[in-house]
Amino acid sequence: MLNQDGTESIINVSEVVTSPFQSFLQELYLKYKPLCHGVLASYIPELTKVNPDLFSICAVTVDGQVHEVGDYHQLFTIQSISKVFVYGMMLEEHGRDYVLTKVGVEPTGDDFNSIILDESSKRPYNPMVNAGAIATTSLIKGSGPTERLNRMLDMFRRYIGHEIFIDISVFMSERTTGHRNRAMAHLMRNFGMIDEKIDEALDLYFQQCSLLVNCHDLAVMAATLANKGINPITQEQAVASCYIKDILSVMYTCGMYNFAGEWAYKVGLPAKSGVSGGIVVIVPNQLGIGVFSPLLDERGNSVRGVKVCEELSQRLGLHLFDCSIDGAKVIESLSSHTR
Ligand code: GLU
Repeated sequence: MLNQDGTESIINVSEVVTSPFQSFLQELYLKYKPLCHGVLASYIPELTKVNPDLFSICAVTVDGQVHEVGDYHQLFTIQSISKVFVYGMMLEEHGRDYVLTKVGVEPTGDDFNSIILDESSKRPYNPMVNAGAIATTSLIKGSGPTERLNRMLDMFRRYIGHEIFIDISVFMSERTTGHRNRAMAHLMRNFGMIDEKIDEALDLYFQQCSLLVNCHDLAVMAATLANKGINPITQEQAVASCYIKDILSVMYTCGMYNFAGEWAYKVGLPAKSGVSGGIVVIVPNQLGIGVFSPLLDERGNSVRGVKVCEELSQRLGLHLFDCSIDGAKVIESLSSHTR
């Protein structure tokens, strides 16, 4: 946990409870820790080596309070969660109208790795499925692969607040087995939706999916989106505030695989999950939440992660359309409890 003076103190479930919110996260952690359903993602061979018991929850408010529990220092690969941030970077680089000519904003109702494009426009449906993400990544500007990679890493650094590194084993694992992603890229090349640097775009896409983060990082990234694009810990602007609504809209409708509709109905918050078991959730102008637990349900979402978020949303009244509870007051109540 990051204290007011910037020093770090580690809190885990065995330590003294410091605030009602911290206590609430610990309660959720203990409640869902025994939930061991689900499977590890296995289509990327390296992901089967992960410890399935890992579990962490972290919340960071837009004024920089940090509450976290469990294995929140444990590194894992960011996978599809990266798609959100690269999409924001491309909106900044090319503008909304141009990006819309290359990638749509419609939910698919199909699997994240489906080899489908919109029949009439030939665009991938949205930037949260693999085809859309590969198309988005192919737009990153730079004079060559190194410059493109470095610009992408620098964007992630702004969100996270420190340097970020690639897990080379996972990268190689995806690179050598990602035949579906290659097929999608070639299909998009056929329709002129991506340029001829297909292998370079795929490498960059596999690299972005293989970036190492922990649950604390996820929550800081989410809080940055909740805080008009400004990292609440470092105060650095990670993305222009005018694109936050674009990013959050797509997360809301397409961020949780084929569970996106039910998630919107039950949790009511923009979110994105990834096959390594992470979920980022944004409570606009209030806080960012990160959850990590690698066992996945049949749709590819973290089993514990979904449960934790459903309960967090319901008990704190965070659903964006819930007018019976004043969710906008959440940060005030957390502040009065924790200061
Ligand atoms: N790297 C993974 C893939 O391209 C990401 C999938 C995900 O997290 O949804 O298949």
